[in-house]
Amino acid sequence: MRELACDGREDLSNRDVEVGDEELVLRFPHARIDHDNKDLYRGWLRRELRIHRCRECERWHHPPRPICPHCWSTKIVPTPVCGRGKIFLKMLLHQGPEVPEVDYREGPHPVITVELEEQTGLRFTSTMLECASDEIEIGMAVELVWTERHAAPFPAFRPASPSAEQ
Ligand SMILES: [Zn+2]
Repeated sequence: MRELACDGREDLSNRDVEVGDEELVLRFPHARIDHDNKDLYRGWLRRELRIHRCRECERWHHPPRPICPHCWSTKIVPTPVCGRGKIFLKMLLHQGPEVPEVDYREGPHPVITVELEEQTGLRFTSTMLECASDEIEIGMAVELVWTERHAAPFPAFRPASPSAEQ
């Protein structure tokens, strides 16, 4: 596996089972893989939801950027989050882009933005599983669950198990 240029971020690609850039692009043909998000997608292959965290000020940010939006440090580290949070925004799509695993004829496709437990204002958008669309509520506690899209792991959410609720 080739080594990446040292740019100040922790080089997760050196961990032996991480895939190279070319294979990563092949695994996610429908995603726009770039230098800023590639380590987050590498995390998906391990069913690990990573978010960029600044090593200087320890704040998280998403979507990924090359520098910390809080302190402008370039010491950004893709870091796994626990996957728990609360629903901040809910949308029900009655039509949308064609995705093999989504059938709009079966009912509206839920899209939720979750405020992650790690930091106020840190949000990640995906879909909701294991819950009827009309039971999804703002403020509801959710946890990360992995499904598949385009034959690759895809992070989604489901209602938090009672033990995880606070
Ligand atoms: Zn920072």
